[in-house]
Amino acid sequence: MESETEPTLRVTEIFRSLQGESTRAGFPCAFVRLTGCSLRCVWCDSAYAFHGGATMSVSEAVRRVDVLGTELVEVTGGEPLEQEGVYPLMDRLLALGKTVLLETGGHVPLDRVDPRVVKIVDVKAPGSGMEAANLPENLERLGPRDELKFVLADRRDFDWALAKVAESDVDRRNVVTFSPVWEGLAASDLAGWIRDCGRPIRLGVQLHKLLWGDVPGR
Ligand code: SF4
Repeated sequence: MESETEPTLRVTEIFRSLQGESTRAGFPCAFVRLTGCSLRCVWCDSAYAFHGGATMSVSEAVRRVDVLGTELVEVTGGEPLEQEGVYPLMDRLLALGKTVLLETGGHVPLDRVDPRVVKIVDVKAPGSGMEAANLPENLERLGPRDELKFVLADRRDFDWALAKVAESDVDRRNVVTFSPVWEGLAASDLAGWIRDCGRPIRLGVQLHKLLWGDVPGR
C-alpha cells in the first residue's frame, strides 16, 4: 500500500516509442512526459504539455513505465525538473535497472540529478526567444555521458551555437547535437553547415517525427 507521503507527479503521457533525438535515437524507449514548463520557446513542439495532465503517484508512474518493458526510459516534458517528484521517479527507475535519460530545457540547475542519469540538456539559441534562461553553470555539471542539444532556427542561430561551443570546447568532452527547428530550417542546410564547420558536432533529425510526424504520444 502506498504511504500518505508518497510523492506525486503531474503527467501528460506515458508511452512506448523509439528514442528520436539523442545518440540513442532508434532504440525502443518508454517516455514519461511531465506536465508544465515555465519557458515558452517559440518553436516548442510539446506545448500541449504546458497544462492539464493527470496527477499520479511516483509508484504508479513507475508501474506504468515498467509494463512497457523497455530497457531505456526518457523523462521529458514540459520541463521535468520543475517537479519535485521527478527525483524519486528517476531514483526508482534507476533502481529497476533502467537506463534513464533526462531531457531538460537547461534553465533548472542540474546539481540534484543522480550522475547515473544521462542528461540531454538544451542550450537555448536566440531564435527560441529564451536565450536569457540558459544557466552557464549547467555546462560545468555535465558528466561524460551527458549530451548537449541546440535547436536552431536559422543561420544566425547556427553561428551563435558554434561560437558557444568553441568558447568552452564542450564538444571535445560531450556529445553536442545541433537539430533544425521542425519545418523551420531545412535539415540539409544544417547538415552542410555542420559538415563544413570543422568541429565534432552531430546532426540531430528528430527520427520520431520523420517516421510519424509531429503528433503527441509518438
Ligand atoms: S523548454 Fe522545452 S517544453 Fe519548455 S517551452 Fe522550451 S521546448 Fe517547450
